[in-house]
Amino acid sequence: MSLFSDVPQAPPVAVFKLTADFREDTHPQKVNLGVGAYRTDDCQPWVLPVVKKVERLIVEDESLNHEYLPILGLPEFRSAASKVALGDDSPAIKENRVGGVQALGGTGALRIGAEFLRRWYNGVNNAATPVYVSAPTWENHNGVFADAGFKDIRPYHYWDAAKRGLDLTGFLDDLEKAPEYSIFVLHACAHNPTGTDPTQEEWKQIAEVMKRRKLYVFFDSAYQGFASGSLEKDAWAIRFFVSEGFELFVAQSFSKNFGLYSEYSRSTYIHAYLLLLSKGNVKTMADRVLLMRDQLKAKLQALGTPGTWDHITQQIGMFSFTGLTPKQVEYMIKERHVYLMASGRINMCGLTSKNIDYVAQSIHEAVTK
Ligand code: PMP
Repeated sequence: MSLFSDVPQAPPVAVFKLTADFREDTHPQKVNLGVGAYRTDDCQPWVLPVVKKVERLIVEDESLNHEYLPILGLPEFRSAASKVALGDDSPAIKENRVGGVQALGGTGALRIGAEFLRRWYNGVNNAATPVYVSAPTWENHNGVFADAGFKDIRPYHYWDAAKRGLDLTGFLDDLEKAPEYSIFVLHACAHNPTGTDPTQEEWKQIAEVMKRRKLYVFFDSAYQGFASGSLEKDAWAIRFFVSEGFELFVAQSFSKNFGLYSEYSRSTYIHAYLLLLSKGNVKTMADRVLLMRDQLKAKLQALGTPGTWDHITQQIGMFSFTGLTPKQVEYMIKERHVYLMASGRINMCGLTSKNIDYVAQSIHEAVTK
C-alpha cells in the first residue's frame, strides 16, 4: 500500500483531451482548431528563424556555461524583457522604477506575482483580498491565484455573448463595485479565449475607474506581438497604465511570440539581440492569423451562413470566440471531424489554405442543420 494511494486522478485538461481525440480520429479531412499554439499553413509548428539563429550562436559560444544564475535570473534577460513590455525609452525604466524576476514561463510569472501580492501587497498578509479574473478567462488563472493562497477569486464581466464583443458596461460596473484595493487580472492584449480586447478609448475608461477606486492592475501578457504583428502596438495598454502612474505587475510569457512552448528553462538563453530581432518573426505569425480571419469571414458570408461574422475579423490574436453553441461544437466534432473547444473557441492557426473551405462548410452546416 503506497503512502500516495489516496491521491485522486486529476481531471483531464480539456485542450489536451481534445488533441488526443483528434489524434485517434482517422477521418482524412479532420482538422484541429483546439490547440493553443502557432501552426504554419502546412499545420506544422514553426521554429522562428531568429530562434534558430540564436540556438546556433549558443552552441558556438564557448563562454556560455551551466553555472547557477543569480537569484532573480539572468540580468540581461530581465532588463531586455522589461524593455519589450515597457519600451526602450520608458521613463519608468530610466528612473529605475522597474524590477524584473525571471520565472518559468508566463505561468511561473503569474504564480510568483500572485504569491508576492498575497504576502506583501498593501503591507499586510492578503489572503482575503478579492482577486478578479475576466469571465471567461484562461483556465489556469483561478488555480494559480488559489494555489498562491487567495481565498476570494471572483469573475468580472467581460464577454457579451449576444453582442459577440466586450461587455464594457458590465466590466466598468464591476470595477465601480469592487472593494478598494481589489486585484484585477487584465489580459494585456489578444484576450484568451475571446480574442476581444478593449479599444484604446475603452482602456482609458477602465484606467480612470481603477485609479479612482484604488484597484490593483496585474497584467497577463502572453501574446505580445501576436495581435497586430507589432510588439509596440500590443503593449499599448500596459504602457498607458504605466504612464498614468499605476504601480502594477506584468506577467510576461515568451512561449507564443518566440514559439518556445516547451523551452521554459532554456529561456535563460534568450539574449537581448533575440528580442530585438524577433519583430519580423511575430509579424509573419500575426499576418497569417489576420489572413485566415479575413478568409474565414469571407467564406461564411459567401455561403450565406446565418448570423453576423464580423467578430471574426474584429477579434485579434490567435483565438476567435466563434459564438458556436456547445451543440454546434458537438456537431462539428462528431459529424465533420473538426475539433474545437466546447466554448466555441477556435485557434485561427489551425486553419490553412487547404482546410479553410472544409471548415467554413462545416460551420455552415453546424449552424443551419
Ligand atoms: N496567460 C495566458 C492568457 C495564456 O494563454 C498562457 C498560455 N496559454 C499563459 C498565460 C501561460 O504562458 P506560459 O505557457 O508561458 O506559461
